[in-house]
Amino acid sequence: MDPNPVLPDPLDPIRKEIDDADRQLIQILARRFDAVKRVGSVKRVDEDTPLLDTERERRIQARWIQDAEALGLAAPFARRVLKEILNHSHRVQEALIDQRGPAAARIHCGYQGQPGSYSALAAAHLLAHRTTGETAINGYPAFQDVGKALINGEIEYGLLPVENSIGGSIADVNRLICDHNLHIVDEEVWQVEHVLAVLPGMQMADVRTIRSHPAALTQCETFLSSLEGVAREPWSDTATAAASLLEGPAHQRRDTGAICSEEAARLFGLDVLARSLADRECNETRFVLLAREPETPDSRLPCKTSLLFRVNHHEGALVHALSVFAEARVNLTRIESRPLPDMPWEYQFFVDVEGQMDSPALAGALIKLRAVCTNLRTLGSYPSRTRRRDSHLDLPPVPAEAAAPAPEVSCVMEVPSAPAPADRSRSSVRIGNITLGEGNFVLIAGPCAVESRQQILDGARMVRASGAVMLRGGAFKPRTSPHAFQGLGLEGLKYLQEAGRQYELPTVTEVLTIEDIPAVMAHADVLQVGARNMHNFALLKELGRLNKPVILKRGMSATVKELLLAAEYLLSGGNLQVILCERGIRTFETSTRATLDISSVPVLKRLTHLPIIVDPSHAAGDRELVIPLALAAAAAGADGLIVEAHPRPEEALCDKAQALYPDDLTQMVAALRPIVAAQGRVW
Ligand code: PEP
Ligand code: MN
Repeated sequence: MDPNPVLPDPLDPIRKEIDDADRQLIQILARRFDAVKRVGSVKRVDEDTPLLDTERERRIQARWIQDAEALGLAAPFARRVLKEILNHSHRVQEALIDQRGPAAARIHCGYQGQPGSYSALAAAHLLAHRTTGETAINGYPAFQDVGKALINGEIEYGLLPVENSIGGSIADVNRLICDHNLHIVDEEVWQVEHVLAVLPGMQMADVRTIRSHPAALTQCETFLSSLEGVAREPWSDTATAAASLLEGPAHQRRDTGAICSEEAARLFGLDVLARSLADRECNETRFVLLAREPETPDSRLPCKTSLLFRVNHHEGALVHALSVFAEARVNLTRIESRPLPDMPWEYQFFVDVEGQMDSPALAGALIKLRAVCTNLRTLGSYPSRTRRRDSHLDLPPVPAEAAAPAPEVSCVMEVPSAPAPADRSRSSVRIGNITLGEGNFVLIAGPCAVESRQQILDGARMVRASGAVMLRGGAFKPRTSPHAFQGLGLEGLKYLQEAGRQYELPTVTEVLTIEDIPAVMAHADVLQVGARNMHNFALLKELGRLNKPVILKRGMSATVKELLLAAEYLLSGGNLQVILCERGIRTFETSTRATLDISSVPVLKRLTHLPIIVDPSHAAGDRELVIPLALAAAAAGADGLIVEAHPRPEEALCDKAQALYPDDLTQMVAALRPIVAAQGRVW
């Protein structure tokens, strides 16, 4: 008989039972997700089946808890397990339904950092759900490098972190989004779980230094301060800190640990000495997937939309903009301000709202928002991954009241065929302390062209004395003949600016080409797009990116609809400070330079919220006709006029016949006042 028999460990059979149960659990989960996928495939083809069946989920939860309790399991524990399972089921089905993106054979996605970093993990996870095709995920040294690669077409997507639940917003990434025409097409929320990684075989007592990204070191404050005599070493990022343990002289690595992800530790063959190191259990980073083109997610997915807007610098402007969402019952999930680089102490606002851009509620709210912002960019709609974390078993938000469907062009009123009621929100444009729109009547006057310093100074004096409130004058002239006076260019802009400042009149001048934009921006308050350029879409696109009011003149042969579509170029670029201008069109009639289409004023009022002014001078071509046409325009409901007047018309180098004398201008103002008053407008 063996004197020292090896007694069977009594735990062995129990542990075997646990191992068996685990194996079964995994098999059962695999079976469950296989069924979930099959349901997803049905939902993909049957577009009427909603993605979420809240009622069914409620029933599943009730049964699950009941069964768990009957078997002696605590309800909170069972609820947590089910929550994880259902979250994953949603994601699996979403991925099946929402097959978007470029049709490249291989999708390239960039991120900042290196393999093993939280960014790399989030990118791999998101891409795996977005496409069943091949993907290549590459790390870049800096956020800017990811942006550049995306803009150059090197990659289709870039995944960048925008905010962290502890550290807040990541300014560099927000700046990148502001400065480039990039779109947000998806988001990922990543649970950051820090571990302490060391070379294999090392013990806690060996650790003298811990290196990691400074933010990670800060997040693990409690853990680090519990270790006596251990130095903290800031490192460029968590994954590089882990990789660095394998480099350098042996003694250096054998007393150093790194705070990184579990995956980074595994990737570099390191041991994990401690887990869950962060002070707070919840440490999440939200990433956005950027692309060059916007994408439209399946309408059944709960989505968010990101917007970037600016408002005028006056009291209540932001509240007014935000109230649009409240009125449409659109939930705001984030708001942040960013300074405007060229305007110290003025800001633009990043806003995330629930819903898809073209859903009735949000589309309606965006039409209203455009009317109260000076600039609005829609950054994209994408499936929401933040909303459901704690409420995925709750009812989805009450659907917002159905609003009118999205219009064909966004400057068009919600119901194009219906007359605009008096309270329909109209947009207005602020120029200094002048508001164009909102029941005001704004008279802009001045010579056709800036001809000399003295001429424009005299012109500005005349304009001021007449009661007009803004000064016009072309520095770049679009002349029908190349031999005619082409304007003084930059010199003219400087004289115009000087005259405007001296007589406290904001200035309007025409911008002819994209190259002239910076100079005109620097010297004038309002940019004019002339009739000959209304179809210059490249110019309109550039002007759409500016934060400066634009007067858009109707092309000589353009329909009202074409004028609105040209305005749409400006609006869709983000510039909402658009003023339309009727200036006469070409008809068979030759007794005037052009036929002033007075009817376009009420027609435009019906179709668009944008302010409308009239230029009677270029329509008439004859000073004697300017005043009657101006009066007709005011009576028809125009928000203002732009007229040509010269201090000495006989000397005018341009459009002499239609230039009003100073006295004519005064007379016109006197005749206009009662009509403006009768319209209930304020001069
Ligand atoms: C002008 O206003 O100076 C001008 C050239 O007008 P339009 O573009 O309407 O001809
Ligand atoms: Mn002119």
